[in-house]
Amino acid sequence: MEKTDCIFCKIIKGEIPSHKLYEDEFFIAVLDLNPAAYGHTLIISKSHHENLLDLGDTAGANFIKAAQMVARAVIAATEAESFNLIQNNGNFAGQTVFHFHAHIVPRKQIDGLNFSWIAKSAPKGFMLEMTEKITRELNP
Ligand code: AMP
Ligand code: ZN
Repeated sequence: MEKTDCIFCKIIKGEIPSHKLYEDEFFIAVLDLNPAAYGHTLIISKSHHENLLDLGDTAGANFIKAAQMVARAVIAATEAESFNLIQNNGNFAGQTVFHFHAHIVPRKQIDGLNFSWIAKSAPKGFMLEMTEKITRELNP
């Protein structure tokens, strides 16, 4: 299924150009147009799904296979020592294109990138409360 005003659906259909690297039954991989590092690659679902929760079981299960394959190639080609797999879901998580995709960003020792956060303290009561709430959601 596609969405007519979706930029990634247009890439999938070949209506706008991209640097395509990989394709399987469920995903394509293209170079990100505004890379965080050279070799920054997007893995994009072939069908229009808004985010990870919308992706469905079959494509979801096949995602890891595609991600491993593409990450290995990106690492080898860029001579990277590490990589980040980043996958944003929703406005407040930084998602800007609302069609499922994940980023593979090759990393080197001194690359000027920083995807870190300031860690909060985790008081025991808060940890227990969160454990209880989340496990209740998982086991209704
Ligand atoms: P996100 O913030 O996770 O939604 O990431 C969207 C990504 O899509 C950004 O890194 C953009 O640079 C990238 N992007 C947007 N348009 C294109 C395009 N036409 N071709 C390749 N990458 C794109
Ligand atoms: Zn789309």
